[in-house]
Amino acid sequence: MDTVIIGKRWGEVNNTKALGSDPDNAKDLGSSGKPVVAISMCACGIPCRYHAKTHKMGRRLYKEKKVAKLREKYELLPVCPEIMGGLPTPRPACFTTWDDDGNPIVEVRGLKNGKREFRTEEYIRGSNWVLWLCKEFGVKAAYLMKDSPACDADNGVCGRLLRENNIIVRKL
Ligand code: SF4
Repeated sequence: MDTVIIGKRWGEVNNTKALGSDPDNAKDLGSSGKPVVAISMCACGIPCRYHAKTHKMGRRLYKEKKVAKLREKYELLPVCPEIMGGLPTPRPACFTTWDDDGNPIVEVRGLKNGKREFRTEEYIRGSNWVLWLCKEFGVKAAYLMKDSPACDADNGVCGRLLRENNIIVRKL
């Protein structure tokens, strides 16, 4: 696997061909004959979120109906950049910011006494594995959880990396 790809260096892995704008036009089909799309693993009901829960206040946190609908049309490839980067579950909640060069900085949320801890390396590692899987499976689109420091299409490390590599990221 390629080593860490961040910020300006993301361009170095932009060696995928133009991937088209519609996953339905994908040439790479799964064994079912449907196009393969990536999906956030927690959206499928796996307890891989930082708090290891699938329900909160009696409310389902995963996207049962949306996932069922997507399954009618696509073959789903569940991915979790946080655990694929080696982080345990449960784990501390994090947030992502970006430096001036477009490099992500992932920091543990809510530490006291000015203490700071970072998980940037793990997030980048996991995001690169997701990208690698997407390339292996010919994925042209990903359905990822919004507001996640890893998966969000705009502010997530993985969401941005996939977009930088011409994979459409739709918010779940
Ligand atoms: S990294 Fe993505 S798939 Fe993993 S728990 Fe967070 S939102 Fe879900």
